[in-house]
Amino acid sequence: MLAITGAAFAMAPDADVIGFALGIEYADTWGHRGATHAIAFAAICAAILSAIWKEARSIGAFLFLTFAMASHGLLDTLTSGGLGAALFWPFDNARIFAPYTPVRVSPIGADFFSARGVVTLVSEAKWIWLPCIALAMTGWGLRKAASTG
Ligand SMILES: [Zn+2]
Repeated sequence: MLAITGAAFAMAPDADVIGFALGIEYADTWGHRGATHAIAFAAICAAILSAIWKEARSIGAFLFLTFAMASHGLLDTLTSGGLGAALFWPFDNARIFAPYTPVRVSPIGADFFSARGVVTLVSEAKWIWLPCIALAMTGWGLRKAASTG
């Protein structure tokens, strides 16, 4: 169950695309790749879940969930499309890109407002969600191996 939650955590930051429909701009703090993609945001979400959910009530589970969600923002910095991720929110709102951006994400081209978020999600899904889910599963596997061995 924790592994599935980790995978959900890895995808969760992109729920920010609903902001497009609400009129929040991409570059805003709560816009796409904004605060929800920050390492601090990942830690906050993991802490809340650890506090309310028994299965996640351990340092290992907390670190795993933080890592699962933070890996999403980190992977987004490797993309060459759109804006970078606000990794260091709330300390710094700058949109960060890694020095090397090997992942090509098709830019957001559709002018149609509600379609914009969907286009972004589809292009991000295959490059960011899949590796994130793989990372989350690997983290969970390592944690499991460490606790049994
Ligand atoms: Zn993202």
